[in-house]
Amino acid sequence: MERKKIILTGDRPTGKLHLGHYVGSLKNRVEMQNSGKYIPYILISDLQALTDNARDPEKIRRNLIEVALDYLAVGIDPKKSIIFVQSQVPELAELTMYYMNLVTLGRLERNPTIKTEIKERGFEKSVPVGFLTYPISQAADITAFDAEVVPGGEDQAPILEQDREIVRTFNAIYGDTLVEPELITPDNNICKRLVGIDGKNKMSKSLDNCIYLSDNPDTIKKKVMSMYTDPNHIKIEDPGDVQNNAVFKYLDAFCTPSHFKKYLPEYKNLDELKAHYQRGGVGDVKIKKFLNDILQEILEPIRERRHYYEQHIDFVYDMLEEGSREARKKAQEVLKRVRRAIGIEYFEDIKLRHSVYTNIDDNK
Ligand code: ATP
Ligand code: MG
Repeated sequence: MERKKIILTGDRPTGKLHLGHYVGSLKNRVEMQNSGKYIPYILISDLQALTDNARDPEKIRRNLIEVALDYLAVGIDPKKSIIFVQSQVPELAELTMYYMNLVTLGRLERNPTIKTEIKERGFEKSVPVGFLTYPISQAADITAFDAEVVPGGEDQAPILEQDREIVRTFNAIYGDTLVEPELITPDNNICKRLVGIDGKNKMSKSLDNCIYLSDNPDTIKKKVMSMYTDPNHIKIEDPGDVQNNAVFKYLDAFCTPSHFKKYLPEYKNLDELKAHYQRGGVGDVKIKKFLNDILQEILEPIRERRHYYEQHIDFVYDMLEEGSREARKKAQEVLKRVRRAIGIEYFEDIKLRHSVYTNIDDNK
Protein backbone atom coordinates (compact mmCIF):
# COMPACT_ATOMS: atom_id res chain seq x y z
CA MET A 1 0.00 0.00 0.00
CA GLU A 2 1.18 3.50 -0.83
CA ARG A 3 2.29 5.57 2.15
CA LYS A 4 -0.15 8.37 2.99
CA LYS A 5 1.27 11.87 2.81
CA ILE A 6 0.71 14.26 5.68
CA ILE A 7 -1.02 17.58 5.03
CA LEU A 8 -0.96 20.60 7.29
CA THR A 9 -3.13 23.59 6.58
CA GLY A 10 -5.23 26.05 8.51
CA ASP A 11 -6.98 29.36 9.00
CA ARG A 12 -6.92 32.21 11.44
CA PRO A 13 -10.03 32.49 13.63
CA THR A 14 -10.47 36.18 12.83
CA GLY A 15 -13.85 35.80 11.11
CA LYS A 16 -16.05 33.46 9.14
CA LEU A 17 -14.57 31.84 6.05
CA HIS A 18 -15.23 33.27 2.61
CA LEU A 19 -15.13 32.38 -1.08
CA GLY A 20 -11.37 33.12 -1.21
CA HIS A 21 -10.77 30.41 1.36
CA TYR A 22 -13.08 28.10 -0.52
CA VAL A 23 -11.34 28.26 -3.90
CA GLY A 24 -7.86 28.97 -2.50
CA SER A 25 -7.64 26.15 -0.03
CA LEU A 26 -10.80 24.48 1.32
CA LYS A 27 -11.85 22.85 -1.96
CA ASN A 28 -8.40 21.32 -2.43
CA ARG A 29 -8.37 20.13 1.15
CA VAL A 30 -11.71 18.36 0.88
CA GLU A 31 -10.68 16.66 -2.37
CA MET A 32 -7.36 15.55 -0.89
CA GLN A 33 -9.10 14.35 2.28
CA ASN A 34 -11.58 12.29 0.28
CA SER A 35 -8.94 10.78 -2.03
CA GLY A 36 -7.75 8.62 0.87
CA LYS A 37 -4.13 9.35 -0.05
CA TYR A 38 -3.44 11.85 2.72
CA ILE A 39 -3.58 12.34 6.47
CA PRO A 40 -4.83 15.92 6.84
CA TYR A 41 -4.06 17.96 9.94
CA ILE A 42 -6.21 21.09 9.94
CA LEU A 43 -5.26 23.83 12.32
CA ILE A 44 -7.25 26.78 13.63
CA SER A 45 -4.39 29.18 14.21
CA ASP A 46 -5.54 31.19 17.21
CA LEU A 47 -1.97 31.98 18.32
CA GLN A 48 -1.21 33.44 14.91
CA ALA A 49 -4.47 35.42 15.05
CA LEU A 50 -3.38 36.89 18.39
CA THR A 51 -0.21 38.30 16.80
CA ASP A 52 -2.27 41.14 15.31
CA ASN A 53 -5.26 40.97 17.66
CA ALA A 54 -3.62 40.74 21.07
CA ARG A 55 -5.83 43.46 22.46
CA ASP A 56 -9.03 41.81 21.28
CA PRO A 57 -8.84 38.16 22.37
CA GLU A 58 -12.64 38.01 22.50
CA LYS A 59 -12.66 38.23 18.69
CA ILE A 60 -10.53 35.08 18.50
CA ARG A 61 -12.58 33.24 21.15
CA ARG A 62 -15.80 34.02 19.28
CA ASN A 63 -14.50 33.04 15.88
CA LEU A 64 -12.97 29.70 16.81
CA ILE A 65 -16.37 28.01 16.51
CA GLU A 66 -17.23 29.93 13.32
CA VAL A 67 -14.19 28.52 11.52
CA ALA A 68 -14.91 25.02 12.84
CA LEU A 69 -18.52 25.29 11.61
CA ASP A 70 -17.33 26.45 8.19
CA TYR A 71 -14.97 23.47 7.98
CA LEU A 72 -17.75 21.00 8.67
CA ALA A 73 -20.03 22.91 6.30
CA VAL A 74 -17.67 22.54 3.32
CA GLY A 75 -17.19 18.84 3.98
CA ILE A 76 -14.11 18.52 6.13
CA ASP A 77 -14.81 15.30 7.97
CA PRO A 78 -13.41 14.72 11.46
CA LYS A 79 -13.32 10.98 10.72
CA LYS A 80 -10.81 11.62 7.94
CA SER A 81 -9.07 14.84 9.08
CA ILE A 82 -7.64 15.92 12.42
CA ILE A 83 -9.09 19.34 13.20
CA PHE A 84 -7.30 21.06 16.09
CA VAL A 85 -6.55 24.33 17.86
CA GLN A 86 -3.03 25.77 17.78
CA SER A 87 -2.93 27.02 21.39
CA GLN A 88 -3.87 23.56 22.68
CA VAL A 89 -0.61 22.13 21.35
CA PRO A 90 2.06 23.92 23.44
CA GLU A 91 4.81 21.91 21.73
CA LEU A 92 4.38 24.32 18.81
CA ALA A 93 5.53 27.24 20.96
CA GLU A 94 8.63 25.36 22.04
CA LEU A 95 9.55 24.47 18.47
CA THR A 96 9.14 28.13 17.54
CA MET A 97 11.77 29.03 20.15
CA TYR A 98 14.33 26.74 18.54
CA TYR A 99 13.58 27.96 15.01
CA MET A 100 13.85 31.63 16.01
CA ASN A 101 17.60 31.22 16.29
CA LEU A 102 17.85 30.16 12.66
CA VAL A 103 16.29 33.26 11.06
CA THR A 104 17.61 36.80 10.88
CA LEU A 105 15.58 39.94 11.44
CA GLY A 106 16.48 41.15 7.94
CA ARG A 107 15.12 37.97 6.38
CA LEU A 108 11.82 38.37 8.23
CA GLU A 109 11.51 41.99 7.15
CA ARG A 110 12.03 41.10 3.49
CA ASN A 111 9.09 38.66 3.31
CA PRO A 112 6.72 40.25 0.73
CA THR A 113 3.51 38.84 2.26
CA ILE A 114 4.47 40.15 5.69
CA LYS A 115 5.41 43.52 4.17
CA THR A 116 1.96 43.86 2.58
CA GLU A 117 0.19 42.74 5.75
CA ILE A 118 2.18 45.21 7.86
CA LYS A 119 0.99 48.02 5.59
CA GLU A 120 -2.63 46.78 5.58
CA ARG A 121 -2.65 46.75 9.38
CA GLY A 122 -0.93 50.13 9.82
CA PHE A 123 2.00 48.46 11.62
CA GLU A 124 4.73 50.35 9.69
CA LYS A 125 5.92 52.33 12.71
CA SER A 126 5.55 49.63 15.34
CA VAL A 127 5.07 46.04 14.36
CA PRO A 128 4.44 43.52 17.16
CA VAL A 129 7.40 41.12 17.34
CA GLY A 130 4.98 38.19 17.32
CA PHE A 131 3.47 39.37 14.05
CA LEU A 132 6.79 39.79 12.28
CA THR A 133 7.82 36.33 13.41
CA TYR A 134 4.64 34.43 12.61
CA PRO A 135 6.27 32.72 9.62
CA ILE A 136 8.61 31.07 12.14
CA SER A 137 5.71 29.82 14.21
CA GLN A 138 4.14 28.61 10.99
CA ALA A 139 7.28 26.57 10.33
CA ALA A 140 6.66 24.97 13.71
CA ASP A 141 3.01 24.25 12.83
CA ILE A 142 4.04 22.47 9.66
CA THR A 143 7.11 20.57 10.82
CA ALA A 144 5.48 19.41 14.07
CA PHE A 145 3.38 17.02 12.04
CA ASP A 146 6.04 16.02 9.47
CA ALA A 147 3.77 17.61 6.86
CA GLU A 148 4.89 17.26 3.26
CA VAL A 149 2.08 19.25 1.66
CA VAL A 150 0.40 22.52 2.51
CA PRO A 151 -2.63 23.48 0.40
CA GLY A 152 -3.03 27.27 0.45
CA GLY A 153 -3.38 30.46 -1.54
CA GLU A 154 -0.62 32.38 -3.32
CA ASP A 155 0.01 34.70 -0.33
CA GLN A 156 1.42 31.64 1.43
CA ALA A 157 4.28 31.16 -1.07
CA PRO A 158 6.81 33.57 0.53
CA ILE A 159 5.93 32.28 3.98
CA LEU A 160 6.38 28.70 2.95
CA GLU A 161 9.69 29.54 1.28
CA GLN A 162 10.87 30.89 4.60
CA ASP A 163 9.63 27.77 6.37
CA ARG A 164 11.55 25.60 3.91
CA GLU A 165 14.72 27.59 4.60
CA ILE A 166 14.28 26.98 8.32
CA VAL A 167 13.96 23.24 7.70
CA ARG A 168 17.08 23.19 5.53
CA THR A 169 19.09 25.21 8.03
CA PHE A 170 17.94 23.03 10.92
CA ASN A 171 18.80 19.82 9.09
CA ALA A 172 22.19 21.18 8.03
CA ILE A 173 23.14 22.08 11.59
CA TYR A 174 21.54 19.32 13.65
CA GLY A 175 21.28 16.46 11.14
CA ASP A 176 18.38 15.24 9.07
CA THR A 177 15.40 15.73 11.38
CA LEU A 178 12.64 17.79 9.77
CA VAL A 179 10.53 17.20 6.67
CA GLU A 180 10.59 19.94 4.02
CA PRO A 181 7.04 20.97 3.04
CA GLU A 182 5.68 21.93 -0.35
CA LEU A 183 2.88 24.44 -1.03
CA ILE A 184 0.02 23.31 -3.26
CA THR A 185 -1.92 26.18 -4.79
CA PRO A 186 -5.02 25.76 -6.98
CA ASP A 187 -4.45 25.06 -10.71
CA ASN A 188 -6.64 27.99 -11.75
CA ASN A 189 -4.61 31.22 -11.41
CA ILE A 190 -7.67 33.26 -10.46
CA CYS A 191 -8.22 30.99 -7.46
CA LYS A 192 -4.69 31.37 -6.13
CA ARG A 193 -5.67 34.87 -5.02
CA LEU A 194 -9.37 35.54 -5.45
CA VAL A 195 -10.11 39.28 -5.51
CA GLY A 196 -12.69 40.82 -3.21
CA ILE A 197 -16.01 42.20 -4.42
CA ASP A 198 -14.20 45.56 -4.69
CA GLY A 199 -12.25 44.00 -7.57
CA LYS A 200 -8.94 45.39 -6.29
CA ASN A 201 -7.55 43.63 -3.28
CA LYS A 202 -7.41 39.98 -2.27
CA MET A 203 -10.67 38.89 -0.69
CA SER A 204 -9.75 39.10 2.96
CA LYS A 205 -11.57 39.20 6.27
CA SER A 206 -9.54 42.25 7.31
CA LEU A 207 -10.56 44.21 4.20
CA ASP A 208 -14.33 43.82 4.41
CA ASN A 209 -14.72 42.80 0.76
CA CYS A 210 -15.91 39.22 1.23
CA ILE A 211 -18.76 36.95 0.32
CA TYR A 212 -18.91 34.59 3.29
CA LEU A 213 -19.77 30.91 2.94
CA SER A 214 -22.51 31.48 5.52
CA ASP A 215 -24.07 34.60 3.92
CA ASN A 216 -27.83 34.27 3.35
CA PRO A 217 -29.28 34.32 -0.19
CA ASP A 218 -30.29 38.01 -0.03
CA THR A 219 -26.87 39.13 1.16
CA ILE A 220 -25.14 37.09 -1.53
CA LYS A 221 -27.36 38.69 -4.17
CA LYS A 222 -26.79 42.22 -2.84
CA LYS A 223 -23.03 41.70 -2.79
CA VAL A 224 -22.97 40.28 -6.31
CA MET A 225 -25.09 43.15 -7.62
CA SER A 226 -22.68 45.65 -6.04
CA MET A 227 -19.59 44.04 -7.59
CA TYR A 228 -16.96 45.95 -9.51
CA THR A 229 -17.16 45.48 -13.30
CA ASP A 230 -15.87 47.87 -15.99
CA PRO A 231 -16.52 51.55 -15.19
CA ASN A 232 -16.44 52.41 -18.93
CA HIS A 233 -19.12 49.86 -19.79
CA ILE A 234 -22.06 52.22 -19.36
CA LYS A 235 -24.59 51.27 -22.02
CA ILE A 236 -25.32 47.64 -22.93
CA GLU A 237 -23.95 48.21 -26.46
CA ASP A 238 -20.60 49.52 -25.16
CA PRO A 239 -17.65 47.16 -25.52
CA GLY A 240 -16.63 45.85 -22.08
CA ASP A 241 -13.40 44.78 -20.40
CA VAL A 242 -13.22 41.27 -18.95
CA GLN A 243 -9.65 41.41 -17.61
CA ASN A 244 -10.10 43.73 -14.65
CA ASN A 245 -13.71 42.84 -14.16
CA ALA A 246 -14.39 41.11 -10.85
CA VAL A 247 -17.57 39.40 -12.11
CA PHE A 248 -15.62 37.68 -14.89
CA LYS A 249 -12.88 36.70 -12.48
CA TYR A 250 -15.50 35.01 -10.30
CA LEU A 251 -17.06 33.34 -13.33
CA ASP A 252 -13.58 32.05 -14.18
CA ALA A 253 -13.31 30.63 -10.69
CA PHE A 254 -16.79 29.14 -10.33
CA CYS A 255 -18.69 28.50 -13.54
CA THR A 256 -18.81 25.25 -15.48
CA PRO A 257 -20.46 24.36 -18.83
CA SER A 258 -23.36 22.83 -16.89
CA HIS A 259 -24.09 26.23 -15.31
CA PHE A 260 -24.45 27.64 -18.82
CA LYS A 261 -26.88 24.89 -19.79
CA LYS A 262 -28.96 25.57 -16.73
CA TYR A 263 -28.91 29.36 -16.38
CA LEU A 264 -27.63 30.91 -19.63
CA PRO A 265 -28.24 28.44 -22.47
CA GLU A 266 -27.68 31.03 -25.22
CA TYR A 267 -23.92 30.61 -24.60
CA LYS A 268 -21.97 27.36 -24.60
CA ASN A 269 -19.17 28.46 -22.35
CA LEU A 270 -17.36 31.36 -20.73
CA ASP A 271 -15.24 32.16 -23.79
CA GLU A 272 -18.40 32.84 -25.82
CA LEU A 273 -19.88 35.05 -23.12
CA LYS A 274 -16.59 36.95 -22.72
CA ALA A 275 -16.30 37.53 -26.48
CA HIS A 276 -19.83 38.94 -26.61
CA TYR A 277 -19.22 41.22 -23.62
CA GLN A 278 -16.01 42.49 -25.20
CA ARG A 279 -17.81 43.26 -28.50
CA GLY A 280 -20.63 45.01 -26.65
CA GLY A 281 -24.22 43.91 -26.26
CA VAL A 282 -24.21 42.21 -22.86
CA GLY A 283 -25.38 44.14 -19.80
CA ASP A 284 -23.79 43.93 -16.34
CA VAL A 285 -27.08 42.88 -14.78
CA LYS A 286 -27.13 39.79 -16.97
CA ILE A 287 -23.65 38.62 -15.97
CA LYS A 288 -24.29 39.43 -12.32
CA LYS A 289 -27.55 37.45 -12.33
CA PHE A 290 -25.70 34.52 -13.84
CA LEU A 291 -22.97 34.70 -11.20
CA ASN A 292 -25.60 35.00 -8.48
CA ASP A 293 -27.36 31.83 -9.73
CA ILE A 294 -24.08 29.93 -9.65
CA LEU A 295 -23.03 31.12 -6.20
CA GLN A 296 -26.47 30.42 -4.76
CA GLU A 297 -26.26 26.87 -6.10
CA ILE A 298 -22.79 26.30 -4.62
CA LEU A 299 -23.44 27.95 -1.26
CA GLU A 300 -26.88 26.54 -0.45
CA PRO A 301 -25.77 23.03 0.59
CA ILE A 302 -22.82 24.51 2.51
CA ARG A 303 -25.17 26.82 4.42
CA GLU A 304 -27.54 23.94 5.16
CA ARG A 305 -24.83 21.72 6.55
CA ARG A 306 -23.69 24.65 8.68
CA HIS A 307 -27.21 25.08 10.09
CA TYR A 308 -27.20 21.44 11.09
CA TYR A 309 -23.93 21.77 13.05
CA GLU A 310 -25.06 25.07 14.59
CA GLN A 311 -27.71 22.93 16.34
CA HIS A 312 -24.98 20.52 17.54
CA ILE A 313 -22.42 22.87 19.07
CA ASP A 314 -21.31 20.42 21.78
CA PHE A 315 -20.32 17.97 19.07
CA VAL A 316 -18.19 20.66 17.41
CA TYR A 317 -16.34 21.67 20.59
CA ASP A 318 -15.78 18.01 21.51
CA MET A 319 -14.40 17.40 18.03
CA LEU A 320 -11.89 20.26 18.51
CA GLU A 321 -10.85 18.96 21.90
CA GLU A 322 -10.38 15.41 20.63
CA GLY A 323 -8.53 16.64 17.52
CA SER A 324 -6.21 18.78 19.64
CA ARG A 325 -5.41 15.80 21.85
CA GLU A 326 -4.55 13.67 18.85
CA ALA A 327 -2.48 16.43 17.19
CA ARG A 328 -0.59 16.93 20.42
CA LYS A 329 0.49 13.29 20.50
CA LYS A 330 2.12 13.62 17.10
CA ALA A 331 3.72 17.00 17.94
CA GLN A 332 5.21 15.52 21.12
CA GLU A 333 6.96 12.80 19.11
CA VAL A 334 8.44 15.31 16.70
CA LEU A 335 9.48 17.66 19.50
CA LYS A 336 11.34 14.83 21.18
CA ARG A 337 13.17 14.15 17.93
CA VAL A 338 14.06 17.85 17.63
CA ARG A 339 15.33 18.08 21.20
CA ARG A 340 17.45 14.98 20.69
CA ALA A 341 18.84 16.38 17.46
CA ILE A 342 19.87 19.61 19.19
CA GLY A 343 21.25 17.57 22.07
CA ILE A 344 19.18 18.96 24.94
CA GLU A 345 17.55 15.72 26.08
CA TYR A 346 20.23 15.79 28.81
CA PHE A 347 18.78 13.34 31.26
CA GLU A 348 18.47 10.39 28.91
CA ASP A 349 21.98 10.98 27.54
CA ILE A 350 24.28 8.58 29.38
CA LYS A 351 27.25 9.46 27.19
CA LEU A 352 26.98 13.10 28.22
CA ARG A 353 27.00 12.16 31.92
CA HIS A 354 30.21 10.26 31.57
CA SER A 355 31.97 12.40 29.03
CA VAL A 356 33.97 14.57 31.48
CA TYR A 357 33.45 13.42 35.03
CA THR A 358 33.75 9.88 36.23
CA ASN A 359 30.88 8.75 38.35
CA ILE A 360 32.01 7.57 41.78
CA ASP A 361 28.98 5.25 41.98
CA ASP A 362 30.26 3.44 38.89
CA ASN A 363 33.62 2.72 40.55
CA LYS A 364 32.25 0.86 43.53
P1 ATP B 1 -6.96 37.73 7.60
O1 ATP B 1 -7.52 38.92 6.89
O2 ATP B 1 -7.31 37.64 9.06
O3 ATP B 1 -5.49 37.48 7.32
P2 ATP B 1 -7.65 35.96 5.46
O4 ATP B 1 -8.98 36.25 4.87
O5 ATP B 1 -6.43 36.43 4.75
O6 ATP B 1 -7.72 36.50 6.96
P3 ATP B 1 -6.32 33.58 6.35
O7 ATP B 1 -6.85 32.86 7.53
O8 ATP B 1 -5.12 34.46 6.51
O9 ATP B 1 -7.53 34.42 5.70
O10 ATP B 1 -6.00 32.53 5.16
C1 ATP B 1 -6.22 31.13 5.29
C2 ATP B 1 -5.94 30.40 4.00
O11 ATP B 1 -6.85 30.82 2.96
C3 ATP B 1 -4.54 30.62 3.41
O12 ATP B 1 -4.11 29.42 2.81
C4 ATP B 1 -4.76 31.66 2.36
O13 ATP B 1 -3.80 31.58 1.33
C5 ATP B 1 -6.13 31.29 1.81
N1 ATP B 1 -6.82 32.49 1.31
C6 ATP B 1 -7.28 33.52 2.05
N2 ATP B 1 -7.82 34.46 1.25
C7 ATP B 1 -7.70 34.00 -0.04
C8 ATP B 1 -8.07 34.52 -1.33
N3 ATP B 1 -8.68 35.69 -1.44
N4 ATP B 1 -7.80 33.77 -2.42
C9 ATP B 1 -7.18 32.57 -2.31
N5 ATP B 1 -6.80 32.03 -1.14
C10 ATP B 1 -7.05 32.73 0.00
MG1 MG C 1 -4.42 36.29 5.79
